[in-house]
Amino acid sequence: MKTSQQLREELSSIDRRPYPAYKSLAGEYRFPGYILSIDHVQGDPFAAPSHLHVRLGHDTCGFPAAYYQNEPARTALEDYLLRRFCDEVRQYSFRAHGSGKSGLISVSSPGQEILKRSSLEITSREIIARFHVGFPANGRTINAGELEKILFDFLPRAVPHAFLGKYQDAAKLQAQIFLMEDQAFLREYLERNGYAAFVKDGSVLPRESGISDRPMAGAVPFKSPDSLKIEITLPHKGPITGMGLKRGVTLIVGGGYHGKSTLLDALQMAVYPHIAGDGREYVVTDPSAVKLRSEDGRFVRDVDVSMFIRGLPSGKDTTRFSTLDASGSTSQAAGIIEAIEAGSTTFLMDEDTSATNFMVRDAFMQRVIAREKEPITPFLERARELYENAGISTILVAGSSGAFFHIADTVIQMDSYVPVDITAKAKALCPEFPLYTGTFHTVIPGTTQESAVSAPALPEAAHGQSQPASSRGSVNLKTSRQPAEDSSQRTRVSRPPAEGSSFAPDKPSPFALPSNRRVMTKDGAVHIQKNYYGRSTGRPEPLKIRVNGTDGFSLGRQDIDLRYVEQITDAEQMEALAQLLKYTVERLVDGKRTVKDCADTLWQLLSTKGFAALSDRGETSAGLALPRYQEILSCLNRYRRD
Ligand code: ADP
Ligand code: MG
Repeated sequence: MKTSQQLREELSSIDRRPYPAYKSLAGEYRFPGYILSIDHVQGDPFAAPSHLHVRLGHDTCGFPAAYYQNEPARTALEDYLLRRFCDEVRQYSFRAHGSGKSGLISVSSPGQEILKRSSLEITSREIIARFHVGFPANGRTINAGELEKILFDFLPRAVPHAFLGKYQDAAKLQAQIFLMEDQAFLREYLERNGYAAFVKDGSVLPRESGISDRPMAGAVPFKSPDSLKIEITLPHKGPITGMGLKRGVTLIVGGGYHGKSTLLDALQMAVYPHIAGDGREYVVTDPSAVKLRSEDGRFVRDVDVSMFIRGLPSGKDTTRFSTLDASGSTSQAAGIIEAIEAGSTTFLMDEDTSATNFMVRDAFMQRVIAREKEPITPFLERARELYENAGISTILVAGSSGAFFHIADTVIQMDSYVPVDITAKAKALCPEFPLYTGTFHTVIPGTTQESAVSAPALPEAAHGQSQPASSRGSVNLKTSRQPAEDSSQRTRVSRPPAEGSSFAPDKPSPFALPSNRRVMTKDGAVHIQKNYYGRSTGRPEPLKIRVNGTDGFSLGRQDIDLRYVEQITDAEQMEALAQLLKYTVERLVDGKRTVKDCADTLWQLLSTKGFAALSDRGETSAGLALPRYQEILSCLNRYRRD
C-alpha cells in the first residue's frame, strides 16, 4: 500500500496532463487513521464521477462493540455515520472550478427511513464509506491542485469528524441505536402476537406537504381507541401504548378529509424503520405488507388472475393473463396475485386509488347484471378467503361503500384524525343492510353450508409457492402466514336472510390460490451495437441505466414505470432495482427460470454477497439502498418482456 505522500507526488506529476492520466491514481493510500481507496477513475470530466472509499478500523473509531456486532444496531450505526458524513460534505462549501463534474463530491443523503445502503457499510473489522468525486479538469486537462484540496484538505478533516466515536454526540447516537432495537423488538412482538400493525399513541402521521416527508407541525397526535389499545414494554423505552391492529380484515372508514389515507400511508411506510423525530418511529407494519392499487396501462404477463377475473367476453384465458395495457381492475387483480407470489401477508388498499368495479358490486347491480355476465369477482368476495385460507390480512380504507362492513373483523372510523372503534355499531347494522352476495353469506341451495366452508383446502403446493423463499437469509424480511390463533375472538360475520328472500344469489367460483409458473424472458428488441461506420458489430448493446428518482428508470431502450409501486421510498432503492433488473436480463434469463426464481436468486445474492454482487468489477459502488423482496418482484413484473 502506498502512502499519502506518494499520492501527493503522483498528483503533482500528472498536473496539466491530459485527463486519462488520472487513471494512474487508482489504488490504496494510507492516511493518518484511515485508508483512502480510489477504486475507479472516470474517463473524462463529463462522465459519471470517480468512485472512492475510505476505511477505518474499529480500533480507530472506538464505538462500543454492541453498536455493530448485531443487527439492528449495526444498521442504526451505519445510518447514523452516513448522515454525519453527509453533513460534513454539505458543510464543505468548496467547489472546484473547472469543466464537467469537477470537484463534485456526492454522498448519499438519507431521508426519514433507515435503509441498508451501500454508501456506508460496517463489517466485523472496519467502517467503509463510499462516495463519488468528480475529478477536476480545465477542459480535458487535469487540474491536480483542486483534487489535492479534496483529498488532502477536506477528507483528512471530515473523515475523523464523521467516523470517530470521540467526535459524536454520544447521547444522540445511543438514542438512535436504542430506537432501532426497540423498533425491531416491536416488529417481532407484532408477528408473534398476531398483529398486522401498530400505531403508538402520540405518533404524528401526516407529513409537512405533498413534497416533504417531514412531520406536519401542529398535527393532531394519534390516539388509540380504548378497545384496540395495547401496551408493549420495549427493551429500552419501556412501556408504550397504542393501537394494535389484529390480523384479519380491518376496515378504515370516515368522512372525507378525516385522515383515513394519512393513516394508511403511515402504515405502508412503516414496513421501514424511521429516524427519531419523524413522528412514525413507533408505527410498525407487517414487513411484508404491500400497498395495492389500480395501475391503468401497466404491463401484465402470464398472471393467473382467475381468482378475480374469468369468462371475459373475448374468451381470453385469465389463468395466464397478459396485456400491454391493463385496465384499472385487471391491473389491481394482477397486483394482488403478484403480491401473493411475493409472500406478502398483509394487503393495504385505499378506495381512493382502487378500481371501483374491482372492489365491490352492489346488490342492485347484481340483480340487474347476472353473475355470468360479470367477469369480475370483486375483492369484497375474496378478502375473507384470502385471510382464512391463505393467512393474508387486509387493511382497507373505504369511505363510500358499506359492503365491507359485512366482512370486516375490525371497523375503525377516523373522526377528525382520531380513530374510533365502531365495530360493534357497524356489525349491529349489518342485518338491516344485507349483502345479497359474497361467499360468506351465500347459502348453497339444498344445504345449510356456506360456500366458504366448502371451499377446497389449500393445496400444499400452492401454499408453498406463495410462501417467501426460505433462502431470504439475514436481510430484514420476515413474513408469517399464520392467521391469528384466537379466531374465536374475531367477530362472527352476520348472515343475511338469504333463504326466503326474493332474490336467490348465485355463488362466486371457489377460492383457490393461483399457481402459475411465469418464465422470465427478455425484451425481444435486442439492439445490436454499431461500429463507427454504422455496421453491425454482432454484439448486443450494453444496457444503460438511467434512474428517474422514485418514479422508475430506463434500462436500454425500455422505460420501467414504478410510480405506482408506492413503497419504493428512495431513489437509491430505485438505482438498486435498476441494477437488479439489468443483472436479471443479462445473466439470469435462461428460458427456464421463472420470474420468482429470478427474484429469489437476486435476494440470495444480496443476502450473501451484498451489493457487490451487482458490480462487474466485484466491488460495491456508492449510492444503492436495499429494496424489499416485494419491490424486486414488482420491478421484474413490470419489465416489458416477450
Ligand atoms: P381522507 O383520506 O380521510 O379523505 P386524508 O388522510 O387525505 O383524509 O387527510 C386530509 C388532510 O388532513 C390532509 O391534508 C392531511 O395532511 C391532514 N391530516 C391528516 N391527519 C392529520 C392529523 N392527525 N392532524 C392534522 N392534519 C391531519
Ligand atoms: Mg383519502
